[in-house]
Amino acid sequence: MTEKITAKMAIGLEDDYGAHNYHPLPVVLKKGLAAKVWDVDGKEYFDFLSAYSAVNQGHCHPKIVSALIEQAQTLTLTSRAFYNDALGPYEKYITSYFGYDKVLPMNTGAEADETALKLCRRWAYDKKGIPSDQAKIIVCADNFHGRTITIISMSTDPESKANFGPYTPGFIVIPYNDLEALQKELEDPNVAGFLVEPIQGEAGVMVPDEGYLKKAYDLCKSKNVLFIADEVQTGIGRTGKLLACDHEGVHPDILILGKALSGGVYPVSAVLSNNEIMLTIKPGQHGSTFGGNPLAARVAVAALKVVKEEKLAEKAEKMGVIFRQEMRNIKSDMIELVRGKGLLNAVVIRPKNGKTAMDVCLKMAENGVLAKPTHDHIIRFAPPLVITEEELHQAIELIRKSILSFE
Ligand code: PLP
Repeated sequence: MTEKITAKMAIGLEDDYGAHNYHPLPVVLKKGLAAKVWDVDGKEYFDFLSAYSAVNQGHCHPKIVSALIEQAQTLTLTSRAFYNDALGPYEKYITSYFGYDKVLPMNTGAEADETALKLCRRWAYDKKGIPSDQAKIIVCADNFHGRTITIISMSTDPESKANFGPYTPGFIVIPYNDLEALQKELEDPNVAGFLVEPIQGEAGVMVPDEGYLKKAYDLCKSKNVLFIADEVQTGIGRTGKLLACDHEGVHPDILILGKALSGGVYPVSAVLSNNEIMLTIKPGQHGSTFGGNPLAARVAVAALKVVKEEKLAEKAEKMGVIFRQEMRNIKSDMIELVRGKGLLNAVVIRPKNGKTAMDVCLKMAENGVLAKPTHDHIIRFAPPLVITEEELHQAIELIRKSILSFE
């Protein structure tokens, strides 16, 4: 029998033996099912973070877990030195699902972003004819694409970036949601790509103006520049469409996916594009020991099927409208602003009597809803998309009660 771990012990162990690179809420979780999680003392919570939108399909979805177990008992990893019987069917499934010729499988979101950057640079030299080592990629201020050296080189967040230099060159940073700035930088003939989050999740669920993505895409097309969408957080049903780019009918040249591609069961990420771009990378030029392993392949197919079968994008759209409406109805001057799309939403908190977004999150946890501030004053609300309407209303009541407790 394994020793029962109390909350105090679990927190103490992480503190003593783990790197201090996170600052979690003092809640120790032990079990999850659908939209709910339970702590080591059996207390129940609604999960309104969903592991940063990785658990769109809900915790421990039975179909995804079954796929995992079945494949784990058969074959887990072959490396890409050999073929395996799960990867091909997955590649066929995901490419037709999102409408691309090819997929390059990776594991984490950051790796998929790195892959997209490499792919864009390779295309720049092989197809666009940019002189060697001169390719530039335009990115947006306040972006979040992960934590590797190259990715933080594109970041404007001092906390992510400071004292990790020297940084990777080749990026131009423009303000988010600024078409004029984009147009100006696109005049540079050495620009190969524009990398953008359709909604900036980590920045605090920043939703750009309607039409921004479509116009940005058209500007990129007019200069033969690749439009690269990082849908690691916004993709796979979260914002009320399969992809957030679908809201504006934009089909990115390179699509980056992660997180919910496995329903939070296993690290699976992917980069999708058409042949003209993807086939510029040749054998030996990019890869990963775990990328495209049979376990990941089976899990991803199961996770993507759940999204369609359970109409999760449509659910997110409908529930998101209810959520934003109910948040706006809360009579508290701590609520400065409510914004979002589908079930990716944020409430901007106006501090009151020294109480901040963190205090609101601690109170919500006490009352049975888990969420975390992003930056000091914004709370992101992103429950699993399988949450029922009844559960959503229950959770809204707990959020209301928590916020009103500061009045
Ligand atoms: N891209 C976006 C838009 C993200 O939100 C994240 C993570 O939050 C990443 C990339 C990085 O993904 P990972 O943490 O799996 O490396």
